Amino acid sequence: MKRLQNVLEQVVEGFVVTRINEGDVCDCKNCRLDMTALVLGKLPTHYVYAEDEVAQSKLPAVAEAHRAKITEYIVDAVDKVKANPRH
Ligand SMILES: [Zn+2]
Repeated sequence: MKRLQNVLEQVVEGFVVTRINEGDVCDCKNCRLDMTALVLGKLPTHYVYAEDEVAQSKLPAVAEAHRAKITEYIVDAVDKVKANPRH
């Protein structure tokens, strides 16, 4: 089924999970989604109206296009969440 989705949500969540797996960051859902939200808030949206499989196929290219900014913003998001965790 087609649906409207911001493919950057999945991309950024993937980057955040990768960062959490590197350690020294809380892996609870609140912190993970807070970091994801902080990064997404600084990025443009990238909406597609498509089936999930079609949207998934776009993720690698979208990730590559935004990699530098996402990496930069995650550093800041980690600092913010660490300073003020909501778990
Ligand atoms: Zn936490």
